Amino acid sequence: MIDKNVNLLVVSAHAADFVWRSGGTIAKYIMHGANVSLVILSYGARGESNDLWNVEGQTLDNVKTIRRSEIEKAAECLGVSNFEIWDYEDYHMMINRDRMDQMVKKIREVRPHHIVTHGPKDAFNPDHEMVSKFVFDASVLSTSNGVRFDGYPTAKQARIFGLSRISLKSATLNRK
Ligand SMILES: [Zn+2]
Repeated sequence: MIDKNVNLLVVSAHAADFVWRSGGTIAKYIMHGANVSLVILSYGARGESNDLWNVEGQTLDNVKTIRRSEIEKAAECLGVSNFEIWDYEDYHMMINRDRMDQMVKKIREVRPHHIVTHGPKDAFNPDHEMVSKFVFDASVLSTSNGVRFDGYPTAKQARIFGLSRISLKSATLNRK
């Protein structure tokens, strides 16, 4: 049952992933009053903004500004007010100890019943598989009493759901 007692954490590798891969799920949870927290790890400036780079004189700062405004509009449409952009560099996204600690703390802060993030197999962008493992590992660490951060008590293991890429063709077939 989805209600106000349910905490959902969505972790998106790039600016648009949460929209076209989990927009329906997010809207459904919001509609039922659940607490939805969204983390966007990067703007996808290097790997998922090709059209923007076709504009002459384009800059990284401008690409990020445009992607930020897209994120804000999408979040507003879905009704998500609780979102953070962590501004990691993408393509190729690197996870170090500080970032692992940051995600463990986020999971302990949100205390999600469910986490939605990238699935373990995704050839579309190598960052997606990286993020799948990152979030899975952080969720496991978040349950360990030996992994200690002041003000962030140990969490229970969340159920993790992996996003996959559905092509328009298969989506059309599924509707028939
Ligand atoms: Zn992506």
